[in-house]
Order: sequence, then C-alpha cells, then structure tokens
Amino acid sequence: MPRYAGRQGRGEENRDRLLRLLHQRSPVTRATIGRVLRLSPAAVSHLLHRLLVEGLVVEEDLPEGQRQTSRGRRPSAIRLNPRFAQAIGLEVTDVEVHGVLVDFAAQPLVQVHHRLPALLNPQGVLAALETVARSLMHHPLRGETPLLGLGVGVHGVVDPERGVSHTFPPMEAWRDVPVARLLAQRLGLPVFLDFRLYAATLAELLHGEGRHHRCFAYLNAADGATLGLGYVEGGRILRGQLGLVGQLGHLCVEPDGRRCFCGSRGCLITVASPRAVVERAQEEIRAGVETSLAAVARRRAMAGESLVFSDLVQAFHQRDKLAVDLLAQAAHYLGLGIAHAVNLLNPAVVILGGVLAGAGDEFVHMIDRTVARHTVPRAYQQTVLKPSRLGAQAGALGAAALVIQRLVEERGIEPPPPVEAVL
Ligand SMILES: [Zn+2]
Repeated sequence: MPRYAGRQGRGEENRDRLLRLLHQRSPVTRATIGRVLRLSPAAVSHLLHRLLVEGLVVEEDLPEGQRQTSRGRRPSAIRLNPRFAQAIGLEVTDVEVHGVLVDFAAQPLVQVHHRLPALLNPQGVLAALETVARSLMHHPLRGETPLLGLGVGVHGVVDPERGVSHTFPPMEAWRDVPVARLLAQRLGLPVFLDFRLYAATLAELLHGEGRHHRCFAYLNAADGATLGLGYVEGGRILRGQLGLVGQLGHLCVEPDGRRCFCGSRGCLITVASPRAVVERAQEEIRAGVETSLAAVARRRAMAGESLVFSDLVQAFHQRDKLAVDLLAQAAHYLGLGIAHAVNLLNPAVVILGGVLAGAGDEFVHMIDRTVARHTVPRAYQQTVLKPSRLGAQAGALGAAALVIQRLVEERGIEPPPPVEAVL
C-alpha cells in the first residue's frame, strides 16, 4: 500500500507543489524542480528523498542524448511512480461509454468500449457506467495496486463541485442526476465528475499537444451529436459562469437550417457533428444514391449497428463520391466554426480531437482552407491546425487525470476518503 503523508507547514507545501509539478510535467530534472519551485539543490534533494521513500516518485537516468555533460550530480529524470496507484476514467457520450484504467503516471493499461442502447434512459446510462467501471476495477491487470478513484467525463451540463449532471441531451428524463454520489455508493470509490469536453481538454493539456502551448483550442467531436471547443490559457481551462464555455456546436451557421436539440436552428452541430454527417449519408443511401457506403450500412445493420463517422472517412479515402461530398461539406462548416474561434480567442494551435483526429491530412487541409478565408490574416498565420495524438481516448484519459489532479493538486495525496465523505 502507498504511504500517505499529512499536510502542514512549508515542507508539506513544497511537497504538494512538487507533486503538482510532476503531475503536470513529468519527467523533470532536479535542476528544473529547483528552478520552478525556487529551492536550493539541498532542499530539492531533501524533498525528493522523502517522496522516493514514500514511493510516490521514481528517479531514472536521462535517455541518451539528453544527458548533460556538466560536472556535478548524475543527471536524472524524476517522474511519478507508475506503480504507486491507479485510477479509472470514463467518458460517456450519447452513444457509448469509453473506459480506461491508468497507472499513476497516467499511462493507459486497459481500455473498454461499451455501446449504449439506441433508446437512452437514465438508469441504463448509470448501469453502463457501473458495468464499465467494475470491469476495469476487477481486470486481471489491476493487481494489488491501490485504486485512487473514478473520474467521469459526462455529456451535457455538469456541476463538477457537487458531482451532479444537470442535462444529458437528448434525454428529457435526465435532470440533475447526482452521478458522483450514485456511483460512489455503488462502487465504494471516490468519484469525480466533469463535462466530458473539459476532461478531454485536460488530457490534451497534460499529455497531448497542449503540453507545448500556453494557449490552445481543442475541438472535440465524438461519435454522436457532440461538437465542443475547449480553450486553455496559461494552463487553465476556461469555463465561464456555468461551465458552458465551448458550446461551439451551437454556433448558428444556417439560420433557417435544421432544428437543433438546443431549440435553435442551423447550429454547427446539425451540419458538422459526426452524427449529422452520418445521418446525411443514411438519407442519401435511402434515396438511392450510388455509394460504397450502402454495402457498409447493410453489413452494419446485420450486426445490429449503424454507420459511424469512421466508415465515411474510410470511404472518403477510397474516393467514394458521396463520402467526399459529405466530408467536404462538413469540413467547410467545421472551418467556419474554427475561424470564429480563432477570431475570438487567438489560440496558438487548434487541436482536432475525437473522431476528427483520425480523418487524415486531406480532411485537415479542407478545414484549413475555410479557416484561412474567414480569419483575421495575422491570427491565421500564427495559428496551427493539428490532429490530436490522443484521438478518441482523450475524454477517458482526461477523466482519469481528473482523479489524480483532484487528489494531488487540490487535496494532496491523503488516504482516499471514506465513501460517505465524498457523497
Ligand atoms: Zn444548438
């Protein structure tokens, strides 16, 4: 079992600051720790000795090529000890639950996907979250390593402090569901909740392209009716008054367009979300348009499934005319949305995440052409459009990072609280 420490005095304060730094930037050298925390080499050594004894961190030789040649201590890299503990992250959209078990250094150990039924109800979603969490809690790769808790990135509007999910579109019956309390009761673990867009943005900030930029925007699109834009400035995710920053999907791009579940018309989500694009493809197939997607849809239907965005991407790369037309149209609208974001926020990089990450360079170039036409030239020239390396895993990884972040950065590593204390 890991050893935990109390939290008083300057020593404890420095210990917390060092853990925070390691959670955000592992691995780091002793010199970096000294510089960032403004500590002497002796103070760094003292602090690290304690964390090494507690088993919270490990010290390894720097890889060849990164070794310094200066005199003094053998250069080494300090990182959180992956074997200290584990955490589980779940992301739930309106079509699936994606779960991941990570070690203390945030490396994924096991991943699970669970498709939600077509007709959603609150009990079914909670049961699916519980099933995926249990399958990871009892996975053979878990071993004896302590489990810190469960993070959940939820679709819809969320109160992360109270652990309550207010809405879950398009489910009318889902109102103010205390997801954290219900799952904590069922699973006997501390549970932390956040909006799935912010969980995915956190993953990009800690483990993705966002590590290298002071300010970045992250466009997240998962299978289903989801399209949001996370924005980070100075290491902080912008949330706004109610945690609703980033509703890019509800930017109006066709004032007389289709009705959106938000009540408005012609929202970006109705023309460029993965679901909207797939629905257009299904309509065209039903209308008898000649396309290779018709056969894919039939195969999917025989397995009780329906077309997904990656089917369109595959057909696009095979130059299927319908897929090319639909993705060109989606790229145009996504480009419009991103152009608005670039004009408003001036990010250094816009990361294309979720299912968009795997759509390929040609798709990114099509988006980029529209962005170029509708942005302030200077802002455009200084902004890079990049696919995410984390792809569709970002939401679940970020939900797991949420557990480590809340415990390491805000409460300090203490014994996991009894379940009653987190209700
Ligand atoms: Zn809308």
